[in-house]
Amino acid sequence: MSERHFGLGNIVSLFRGRSEKPQHEETMKMTDIRLHPAIDNGLKRGRDDFAGGTLVCKCATNPVRVEIQGQVAHNHACGCSKCWKPSGAIFSVVGVVPRDRLRVVANEDKLFIVDPNAVIQRHACKECGVHMFGRIEKTDHPFYGLDFFHTELSREDGWAPPEFAAFVSSIIEQGFPPSRMGEVRDRFHEIGLQTYDCLSPPLMDAIATHVAKLSGKLAA
Ligand SMILES: [Zn+2]
Ligand SMILES: [Zn+2]
Repeated sequence: MSERHFGLGNIVSLFRGRSEKPQHEETMKMTDIRLHPAIDNGLKRGRDDFAGGTLVCKCATNPVRVEIQGQVAHNHACGCSKCWKPSGAIFSVVGVVPRDRLRVVANEDKLFIVDPNAVIQRHACKECGVHMFGRIEKTDHPFYGLDFFHTELSREDGWAPPEFAAFVSSIIEQGFPPSRMGEVRDRFHEIGLQTYDCLSPPLMDAIATHVAKLSGKLAA
């Protein structure tokens, strides 16, 4: 701990930051952090009566098409290294739908499983590399029965926006400078999303409840 940490300059700048309101807006415009195209310009409200949409991969010809019935649930930004993200984005945006509401409707033969050993089996297009959906085949997994997918692959408007940011610290594992993590979290908070370094508390509670029921610590 050096004297500099308690120097007058720091105290003055602390004050300045508090007293000048426009500074907040300035930092908001000045940051060059690109979280994800669906987040950077603020969140779009979802439609309550949204019926679903069709995910299309990035292939110019014979794209893979996946039909989703109904609204996305638990949509969130994810900083893990496994989720597919568009180029330039630090985070993915991923949500879930019951697996019986997801159907591959075109060019299924172009899909392959990225990592057959991963809990979430991500089905990606062999040609363009886009992940079309992720499926859990382990029947005792807390999220069994849900498929993961990226709403941005559909042109339909009305998907529920991301509700929080998960696995935020994991972006460091992919080379993001630790010194800029504050900017990332601040930016999410400005947009209105809470940041977590695992999943959100309700989802972590759901996982723990599932584990406790399996082990008998809680009544099933
Ligand atoms: Zn493709
Ligand atoms: Zn992820």
